[in-house]
Amino acid sequence: MRETIAAATMPAPHEPVRVREFAPPDPQSGGAILRTLYSEVCGTDVHLHEGRLAGVPYPLIPGHVSVGILSDIRGTILDIEGSLFREGDVVTFLDVHETCNACYQCLVAKQSTRCPHRRVYGITYGAEDGLLGGWSEAIWMKPGVKIVRMPADLPPETFIGGGCGLMTALHAVDRGDIRLGQSVAVLGVGPVGQSAIALAALSGAGEIIAIGAPASRLDFATRMGATAVVGLDVPPQERTTQVRALTGGRGVDLVIEAAGAPEAVSQALDLVRDGGRVVVCGQYTDHGATEINPHSQINRKHVEIRGCWGSDFSHFHRAVDIAARHSNRIPWAEMATRRFDLAHAGDALEAVATRAVLKAVIVPNS
Ligand SMILES: [Zn+2]
Ligand SMILES: [Zn+2]
Repeated sequence: MRETIAAATMPAPHEPVRVREFAPPDPQSGGAILRTLYSEVCGTDVHLHEGRLAGVPYPLIPGHVSVGILSDIRGTILDIEGSLFREGDVVTFLDVHETCNACYQCLVAKQSTRCPHRRVYGITYGAEDGLLGGWSEAIWMKPGVKIVRMPADLPPETFIGGGCGLMTALHAVDRGDIRLGQSVAVLGVGPVGQSAIALAALSGAGEIIAIGAPASRLDFATRMGATAVVGLDVPPQERTTQVRALTGGRGVDLVIEAAGAPEAVSQALDLVRDGGRVVVCGQYTDHGATEINPHSQINRKHVEIRGCWGSDFSHFHRAVDIAARHSNRIPWAEMATRRFDLAHAGDALEAVATRAVLKAVIVPNS
C-alpha cells in the first residue's frame, strides 16, 4: 500500500471534483482494504453534485458501487455461505452499511431500506469519515460491510456495467410482482430502465414497451429485451394510444417508472390498465410535484401504486448471481461505455449529466 491514497472528491455541490491525497485506512478487526478496480458514475452522483439529496456530508468521495481486490484483511471475514475471504479475492460490496436490525423499520415493518440508521458508501458517508467511496485508489471495508465474491464467470466490467441500476431494477421488478406473459411498460431508458427491461424479460413478461430517449438508448433497450419502443418525440397522449394499441386497448399490466421526471408518474397512471400496478423507482431525488387526477387516474382505474426505495442485501446478492448467469445474453458490459481515471472524474460526471454516455466507469488505479 502506498503512503497516501488518491481519491476524487466533491468538495460541495456545484464545485469542481478535485483529487486529494488521504492517509491509508487502518482497518479494524473484521475490516479490510479494497484496491479499487472499477467504480461507477450514475445519475445519483450527478444529483449529489447538484446538491439534490438531503443529509449528504460534503466533502464526499462518491462511488457507491465498486469492484476491487481485497487486501489487508484483519481477522476473519466470511461470506454468507460461511466461506472465508482471502486477500486477492475479486469482490464487490453492498454500499448500504449500518442497517441496525434493532429498529421498528428493520424488525417490525421488515423494510430495512427505510432504517434511519443506515449509511451508504459514497452518499451518506463523507470524506471526513474515511475512504468510504469508490472514486478512490482504495476503499476502507468497515467491519460488518457485506462483501460478495465476483463469480469466476462474471467479468467485473460486466457487473459494473449493470452496477447500482441493476439492484434498483431488481427491487423494482420484485415490487412489480410480474406474472408470466404480463405486459410491462418501462418509463426511462437510463441504467435503471435498461436493467428493468432485462429483468422483466427474465421474469417472463410478454410485451415489454420501453419509453424514453434518445433513439440510441431505445435501440439498446431492444437488445436488453424490449419488444416495442416509443420515443419521447411522440406526444404523451399519442404514447398512451400506442401503448393501448399494443395491449388490446387496455394498457399494460405493470408500469415501472424509472424516468425521474415527476410527470412520468402521471404518465405511468395513464399507461397502466384498470387494476394494474405502477412501481415508482425513478424519483430518487426531489424534482418537485406533478399534477395527478385522483379520480380518473387512480380511484376509478382501481390501480395499485408502489414506491421502491433503495435496495438491500437480497437484491444485491441476487443481482450478482443474475449478472453472472446471463452475462452472455444481456449486454450489461456495453452499458459502461467510457472509462475515466481519477483526474478526469469531473469529466465522467459531466458525460453522465449531459447523457453523452449511459454510464461512466472510474478506473482509480489506471
Ligand atoms: Zn434499523
Ligand atoms: Zn448509483
